[in-house]
Amino acid sequence: HSKKKEQIIKEAKEKNVKFLRLMFTDIDGVIKNVEVPISQLEKVMNNEMAFDGSSIDGFVSIDQSDMKLHPDLDTWLIFPWELDDINVKIARFICDVHTPDGEPFAGDPRNNLKRVLKEMEPLGFTDFNLGPEPEFFLFKLDENGKPSRTLNDSGGYFDLAPTDLAENCRRDIVIELEALGFHIEASHHENAPGQHEIDWKYASAIEACDNIQTFKLIVKTVARKHGLHATFMPKPIEGISGSGMHFNMSLFTEDGNAFYDSETEDQLSHTAYQFIAGLLDHAQAFTAICNPIINSYKRLTPGFEAPVYVAWSGTNRTPLVRVPSSRGNSTRIELRSVDPTANPYLALAVLLKAGLEGIAEAKEAPSPINRNIYNMSQMERKENNISALPGSLKEAIEVLKKDETIKEALGNHIFDRFIAAKEEDWRAYAKTVSQYETDRYFELY
Ligand code: ADP
Ligand code: GLU
Ligand code: MG
Ligand code: MG
Repeated sequence: HSKKKEQIIKEAKEKNVKFLRLMFTDIDGVIKNVEVPISQLEKVMNNEMAFDGSSIDGFVSIDQSDMKLHPDLDTWLIFPWELDDINVKIARFICDVHTPDGEPFAGDPRNNLKRVLKEMEPLGFTDFNLGPEPEFFLFKLDENGKPSRTLNDSGGYFDLAPTDLAENCRRDIVIELEALGFHIEASHHENAPGQHEIDWKYASAIEACDNIQTFKLIVKTVARKHGLHATFMPKPIEGISGSGMHFNMSLFTEDGNAFYDSETEDQLSHTAYQFIAGLLDHAQAFTAICNPIINSYKRLTPGFEAPVYVAWSGTNRTPLVRVPSSRGNSTRIELRSVDPTANPYLALAVLLKAGLEGIAEAKEAPSPINRNIYNMSQMERKENNISALPGSLKEAIEVLKKDETIKEALGNHIFDRFIAAKEEDWRAYAKTVSQYETDRYFELY
């Protein structure tokens, strides 16, 4: 370990790193960071950096506020940009939050995911992998540098310049991400005007979640340099596609991908089917975690390639779960409901728990639905046992409250704080009067 520390100290000197950002993620999925001068580097690496946990939403109360940050030395990274042309660099660590007596803090989503990941070991799994597909919109900044509601282009799926004005911005994002070690697999314009997607290679759970958090930071920072505002809001504009963050997931054993079986007709293993069964069983309950804001439910509506019903398929893009056609080590299960406002650590914890339950209890997956579910009548859906996802954050919270498995995946601390925060948000929202209401009722009544 100390060799790694020495390397970091050496690199910080050579690259003229002057500031260190200690990053962690709160329950809302928002990145928090404490910045310290590089003189604190050794203290930080010795887990001696304290911060006031009561200042973070959903963490702890004032009387137990002295939390410690334990940096994950594998997440050491020097940001590619320099401070005001003076050749000064900033580095970061992603940290786990610990209590004053050194225990992993139960309210830290990253710690919580580590706890749930341990549950796959007795079942023989070594890795839970995630490849996310985040989508986002680029809006222009106005003359005061504030985000406007003007989209930055009018392109469509896979469009090229000149319609795709964001091409330079997206290319710069990719360049910065590659400089930070991301293996970019695809970068393209999405369906809606101003909408984009960047995909990179999957990684093991914790690293994959760290990558999502870093990705969002880089996208926002680079967009700003191009006079643009990047938003991961799931449905920024009504009537056009929203932004999802599909989760491609696989479980590995020492022998490789556990979802792959060369012997079966469709080359999917029993494990894969059981994992799907577990996901579908808890799909309504984990929606609150995968789609955690009021606006998330404006995206989960028919007609825009976002899921509305609980079903799976090997081919079409309307169900909740899709099994892409790749096999071998790329065999994976794609969950299409997740949106980019989900806290990735919490989302992976609940999804893994649901899938593992399917495997542990050898659950049977229902038959795949290989036709467009949006076009089915209510009767047909009933005959096929297809239920709907919750239609609002309020509904989603009510289902979440009743699911013990998902509750266990969050732990009591996170579960309680999450529900309290979402109920408060819902109460505030319920009091507002929207444009839709005034347009529809003001003159009619
Ligand atoms: P789509 O078919 O939905 O367009 P993409 O090809 O855009 O999917 O995205 C595929 C994602 O899945 C990438 O992030 C890729 O790294 C990831 N992926 C590939 N193999 C695996 C695997 N075995 N486990 C998890 N993710 C994987
Ligand atoms: N934008 C769509 C969504 O909201 C997904 C489009 C796609 O299949 O990439 O999930
Ligand atoms: Mg997409
Ligand atoms: Mg996809």
